[in-house]
Amino acid sequence: MKLYLKILIFILLLMGLALWVNIYFSRVAVTEAMSAQIADGAASAASDLTPALQKVFSERLELEGIKTLHAFAQKTGALYAAAVTADGTVIAHTNVALAGTNISDALMQRAARGGASVSRRTYHNGEEVVEAVIPVSARKSASGEDILFEGLSDSGETAGFLRAGLPLTPARKAEKDIIFKLLILAVAIAATALALSAIFTRLILSQVSFLREGIRKVRDGDYNFSVPVVTHDELGDVAVSFNKLSRGLSETTVSKQYLDSIVESMPDPLIITDERGTVIKANKAAIDFSGYDFSPPGSLNLKDILEPQAEGAADPLSLLAWSGHIKELDLWLLAKTGERLPVMMSAALTGPEGRRQVVAVLKDMAQHKESEARLAQYLKEVEMVNSELDAFAHTVSHDLKEPLRGIEMFSSMLLTDYAPKMEPQAADYLGRVVKASSRMRRLIDDLLSYARVSRVRNPYESASTARLAAEAVAGLAALIEERKAEVKVPETLPEIFCDPVKIRQVFHNLISNALKYNSTPAPLIELAAEKFGEYYWKFSVKDNGIGIPAQYFEEIFKMFKRLHSRQEYGGGTGAGLAIVKKIVEEHSGKIWVESVEGNGSVFYILIPADLRKQP
Ligand code: ADP
Repeated sequence: MKLYLKILIFILLLMGLALWVNIYFSRVAVTEAMSAQIADGAASAASDLTPALQKVFSERLELEGIKTLHAFAQKTGALYAAAVTADGTVIAHTNVALAGTNISDALMQRAARGGASVSRRTYHNGEEVVEAVIPVSARKSASGEDILFEGLSDSGETAGFLRAGLPLTPARKAEKDIIFKLLILAVAIAATALALSAIFTRLILSQVSFLREGIRKVRDGDYNFSVPVVTHDELGDVAVSFNKLSRGLSETTVSKQYLDSIVESMPDPLIITDERGTVIKANKAAIDFSGYDFSPPGSLNLKDILEPQAEGAADPLSLLAWSGHIKELDLWLLAKTGERLPVMMSAALTGPEGRRQVVAVLKDMAQHKESEARLAQYLKEVEMVNSELDAFAHTVSHDLKEPLRGIEMFSSMLLTDYAPKMEPQAADYLGRVVKASSRMRRLIDDLLSYARVSRVRNPYESASTARLAAEAVAGLAALIEERKAEVKVPETLPEIFCDPVKIRQVFHNLISNALKYNSTPAPLIELAAEKFGEYYWKFSVKDNGIGIPAQYFEEIFKMFKRLHSRQEYGGGTGAGLAIVKKIVEEHSGKIWVESVEGNGSVFYILIPADLRKQP
């Protein structure tokens, strides 16, 4: 039942009860008051007839009594009247048949005892009356006031009693009038109260219905809904708290629409079922892949569409019930077309006890295998092209070296033997040819070294990098001496599983660069290594040289990339770092530089401690 109906019924019941109590007590009060008034009226009327009544009693005159009683009845409207002695003997009665009878009852006794008027409500011939017994004084005169307050008797001298039945009808009429007016008043009050309560409940309920709408939105996953605050009471406080709560939820929780859109846009089929495998939801990929539309929810069970690939293997739902999750289980999906499609399922049981759900993701293995095969093919092709390229570079360099050596040799001979006979211009040209050809030889040598990195596969072994670095330093002793440099190689440098010849070359190239690109009088080069995660070592070669501008941090690792002119900093071809990079990558590592121009450089190398135990 709606809240406002409950409130209305409650108000109506309350008002009904109040009205009933009001009418009941009003009736009692009106009847009492009217009865007393009628009795008083009768007593007053009787006082006017006192002399006549005294005579009737003293002389026991029935006829005189009847006359007096009729006069009394006429005056008061009494239905009957009787003159009765103290012992209850009826001297005269408006109903003559009752003269001489005895009506000594409780009312008479009460009147005789008290010596004052008494009355009660009773029925006479079916009509409600006030029956009054009024003592008639034996004294000759009595004032109207005395009679009103003391009855017709006086200090026990009672001649007899006037007993009369006075109709209560006027009282009842007045009572009805009052009740009718009360009812009208009650209806007016009820209508006003109803109208007010309707307005009041509507005001309260508008806040309640906003809150209800808000709760519905949050239940549907829309946390960005704010409830309007229409009242500034406890309900308004609830609305404010609700808004804070939903804002908090929107900041901390992923909304249902958001999740739904992710699920829908997933390229892999995703199916959500209850604990028994009844499908509740499936994304578009699942519908497209299987051909089932999975509607209405509950029309399909996982058991009907998935079966294990391995003979006699447990079905996925039993596995899930047992372990709570499944990782990469090979299954057949029975597509709607009747085809059996190979899939790999990963699934988990989620949700609270009793409302568990299975979230299952399928992988199309046919497609997966196809892409794997395609990838392997590409890799093979790339490797082939690479080795062809290396072979090509090697052959070309080798073949080029031969004629180049000839050019270099003969032009040098020409220069030494015939220079004096030549014009200076011709000697200059020849000198340039010698320089160019020797540079070309260096370029070709470097190209060969570069190609050799992947062509030559030395056996991998555990080698001390401290030893390899020390050997590289020894190879550079002359340059170190000349540059008055200090190279610090800690003995703690680790052992790694590598091609030692190539790693030595890495140290050689980096240390020689650090010496070359350094214009300080005392170059300082420091090698270091620290553990990086569980599998890697991070080596660093730090110098106090000229540094490298940030925009060249990537460029310098490219083949033949130099930042300076040929003669500057001892010359070079720009192959050194390209060779280093190639070696590091061949060891599944990574190289990068950090430097501040004019303030030294640090070359970092991340390399697996043991390639065989890579993650
Ligand atoms: P090369 O030394 O033959 O020029 P590299 O490949 O070894 O070729 O280096 C490429 C470029 O990177 C160099 O020309 C030099 O400008 C810059 N470089 C390399 N090492 C350093 C270093 N330690 N400090 C400053 N610059 C460097």
